[in-house]
Amino acid sequence: MYDIIIIGGGPAGLTAAVYARRAGKRVLVLEKAALGGQITWSPKVENFPSVASISGTELGDRMAEQAMAQGAEVELEEVIGVEDCGEYKRVLCDFGARYEGRAIILATGAKPRMLGVEREEELVGAGVGYCAVCDGAFFKGLPVAVNGGGNSALQDAMLLSETSSRVYLIHRRDSFRGEEKLVEALRAKDNVEFVLNASITALLGDDELRGLRIVQNGAERELAVDGLFVAIGHEPDNAAFAPLVELDGRGYAAAGEDCLTKTPGVFVAGDCRAKKVHQLTTAVADGAVAALAACAWLDR
Ligand code: NAP
Repeated sequence: MYDIIIIGGGPAGLTAAVYARRAGKRVLVLEKAALGGQITWSPKVENFPSVASISGTELGDRMAEQAMAQGAEVELEEVIGVEDCGEYKRVLCDFGARYEGRAIILATGAKPRMLGVEREEELVGAGVGYCAVCDGAFFKGLPVAVNGGGNSALQDAMLLSETSSRVYLIHRRDSFRGEEKLVEALRAKDNVEFVLNASITALLGDDELRGLRIVQNGAERELAVDGLFVAIGHEPDNAAFAPLVELDGRGYAAAGEDCLTKTPGVFVAGDCRAKKVHQLTTAVADGAVAALAACAWLDR
């Protein structure tokens, strides 16, 4: 029996693991994909205090190493549900594994939002992607597009401009939501074209993406590209925890700044929590708050 089971090994979950271990608790982190979470998709992180510039992968690795060095156990498992057994909770995983813990911290983050254009799913891996850090190298010397106007899209465009022949940055408004500094850096690039007030209406190509049909300022246009990186934000994946945690209209887990949910012994931290600012720094802050709340609950 673990004291605390943390579901999700991103910045929130790994910070919670460090705090809980330092409070002497037996801690298990369950992660379905890669430790480090969403941050591993960021080519460069330049707004994490004390680290001027670091790749998201390296920052994620450092967080994971720190949590494990403190004694947190880690298993690669996809959690499909949590049963409330009163004094403890049972965590159910997709291949049949079961783990028991006295307290649970949900830190499942968020997954990339899909564009919702016809054939998107069919073309994933055949030109359509959601992670320029992971897949950008496949498009060396080829024209690509990035869709979105936040920091993720801006960073993806910057990364792809280093290797792709041309980068179309498609955004539905006339100005970006992401940092002005990144916008200026992209503006200075010869091979980056801003395609503003534009929406993608069709994905062209048979077995592989060969182009996009877009509508820009009301007029139709086609762009010849071999890759499309969709970076239009994220959404949570909390449905499996709905019996224990109240979800808001968009699927985020309701909890105040104290990270407490409606179920005693179940806490929530990071991007899966309903809050105004979803940032790396607020995720690690949540991790600390949730871990200390869970420790206090165990010691009550
Ligand atoms: P985001 O800031 O929410 O931006 C999403 C963008 O996609 C917005 O420009 C939005 O347009 C657009 N969009 C949403 N739905 C769309 C749709 N259906 N069709 C077309 N466009 C759509 O998301 P993000 O860029 O993934 O960033 C998430 C958070 O992580 C942000 O707070 C960001 O600052 C942070 N982040 C930090 C770093 C870092 O280096 N530390 C790196 C990446 C991200 P509108 O503007 O019109 O709403």
